[in-house]
Amino acid sequence: MITPAATQDEVRRHNLGRLLRLLHVRGATSRARLTAETGLNRSTVRALTGELAAAGLVRESLPVGRGRAGRPSILVEPESVRTYALAVDLGVEHLIVGRIGLGGVVHDRREIRRQMVDGDVRKTVRRVHQMVELMLAAAPAGGVCVGVGVGVSGVVGTGDGLVRLAPNLGWENVPLGQLLSDKLGGRLPVTVGNDSDLGALAEHVRGVAAGLSDVVFISGEVGVGGGIIIGGRQLRGAGGYGGEIGHMCVNPRGRLCRCGRRGCWETEVGEEAVLLATGAAPGAELADVLAAHAAGERHAVRGMRKVGEWMGLGVVNLVNIFDPEMIVFGGMTRGVFEVTEPTTRKALAAALTGPRRKVRLELAAHGVDSTMVGAAELAFAPLLDNPTAALAAVPDRLDA
Ligand SMILES: [Zn+2]
Repeated sequence: MITPAATQDEVRRHNLGRLLRLLHVRGATSRARLTAETGLNRSTVRALTGELAAAGLVRESLPVGRGRAGRPSILVEPESVRTYALAVDLGVEHLIVGRIGLGGVVHDRREIRRQMVDGDVRKTVRRVHQMVELMLAAAPAGGVCVGVGVGVSGVVGTGDGLVRLAPNLGWENVPLGQLLSDKLGGRLPVTVGNDSDLGALAEHVRGVAAGLSDVVFISGEVGVGGGIIIGGRQLRGAGGYGGEIGHMCVNPRGRLCRCGRRGCWETEVGEEAVLLATGAAPGAELADVLAAHAAGERHAVRGMRKVGEWMGLGVVNLVNIFDPEMIVFGGMTRGVFEVTEPTTRKALAAALTGPRRKVRLELAAHGVDSTMVGAAELAFAPLLDNPTAALAAVPDRLDA
């Protein structure tokens, strides 16, 4: 039976989450502003922020400096040092782990560059676990870790942490969330998501695409991936495979792709394609090509112009299909876009007039860290949905 009291409690919980999410995204905000933006009345906001403060999630203080006449409104800000998440970006050539405080503050960040893994799941999980323990040990005493979010370049089941398919890692049906959770002795909840989706989430929540509702995020490392947000929601597709823009066919006579087909976008604008197009020496990396381009070396300039044409062709398709407000270049495509921007923009003239007019092409605000920042958002989600329940589920026994 739903009693009026239970309903009231639900409303209160909902509003607690709403306020905490607002503070998490916006940072320090006055109570007056929270009142205005949520439409809740002043006493309700006071009671709710008081409750969040008592739970150690926010801090309330008098604003510094002289205000105008009248009583200054109390400033509420997230307890970003005390409450944090650990975020993991597990790539084919890199492993980035960050400790990110409530409010999105990056307190600690460590990166390991590594070569293509041999598909060894155990070794990879062990390495991720070591990094996570290292970051936990370095966190200030008395803090509360709400969980671990992991971004991985593969198709990930919703909510179960199962990596169904990660071709560039050579993984199939790897229960990554469970394996990492076991290593941690069940101390922390572990959530896993697709790296491009998380990159898109990061740029959408607190990046270059904040406030927009239709966004295509292009990510790239060894492959090229995509995170697509339509009407403010992540596009997943029927089986979770949606958004694989790297495998849209742009050149049927092109090279063979890792997916087994020919002429995917990835084989024309991915890292390998860039190295090939510019005639880079064996063992060279994207950074070397970009440096050669900056130095005006002819083969690099000519090769990157070709890459820019392919980049433009793919972008035109994305613009025509999704009519996005913004296309965000993340990961390795950031560096490629910086160099090929004139060619890519020129190619955009081939898009349909309607969507072409308003689309903006931008670099990811978080640089190569979009996935890591998005992985933290994934870990924070339960706390923001239901602050009290999430805190009860994650007692601060990490110091024990
Ligand atoms: Zn492909």
